[in-house]
This record gives sequence, structure tokens and C-alpha cells, in this order.
Amino acid sequence: MSETTETIFSKIIRREIPAEIVYEDNLALAFKDVHPQAPVHILVIPKQPIAKLSDAESNDHALMGHLLLTAKRVADQAGLTKGYRLVINTGVDGGQTVDHLHLHILGGRSLTWPPG
Ligand code: IMP
Repeated sequence: MSETTETIFSKIIRREIPAEIVYEDNLALAFKDVHPQAPVHILVIPKQPIAKLSDAESNDHALMGHLLLTAKRVADQAGLTKGYRLVINTGVDGGQTVDHLHLHILGGRSLTWPPG
């Protein structure tokens, strides 16, 4: 079983704190990042509170695919026709600060590589 966690993102899912939600279905939610690092910065999260990518298991296979396709759908919806970047910060060295798996969609400007 995947590790579960209660974070600020759980409160966003339950509408206990405000967020600019741009997409929702039965498995996933997407909302604008409160501290955007690019003109478009949206987070895609599973409603199931998996803490981090390294906690995902083989029975999360379909959900992981769904999150990736949801990110593509949300990026299309945001009009990122020139491209975008998906980022999953994982664990301490990955720079993860919220322990609820999330995909960052970053776009709307030319992004540099490598990240810091
Ligand atoms: P991480 O560093 O990969 O864990 O990313 C966490 C992200 O969540 C950061 O980009 C934060 O700006 C964002 N964040 C934290 N709290 C909120 C919130 O309440 N609403 C929207 N985004 C948030």
C-alpha cells in the first residue's frame, strides 16, 4: 500500500482552503501554484494522497498514467502550444516541500536547463 499523508493539498481537495482550480475529475485535481515560477505554473495532483513518487507502487500504474495524461490535457487547455516542462520533485534532495505527489506544469516562457 502507498504511504498516505495529510497536507495542505488534502485541504485544497476538500475545498477547505481556496485554490484556483483549473481541472478536476474523479482521480485528479489541477490548480495554479500559489508562488508561480513561470507565467503558467499549475500543479496536478492525485486525489489519493500518495506522499511522493517513490511511494507509488505497481497497483498505482493506471493512476500514474492518468496523472501524466491529465498534465498534457491541462497544458493544452492552458494554451502552451510552444511547449512546457513537467517536474516531479521527490524527497529531500529532489526539493519536495509538500508531501503529496504533484506534477508541476511550467510554461509560458523559454525555460533553461539544468535546474538548480
Ligand atoms: P514542491 O517544492 O515540488 O514540493 O512544490 C510544492 C509547490 O506547492 C510549490 O511550488 C508551492 O508554491 C506550492 N504550494 C504550496 N502551498 C500551496 C497552496 O496552498 N496553493 C497552491 N500552491 C501551493
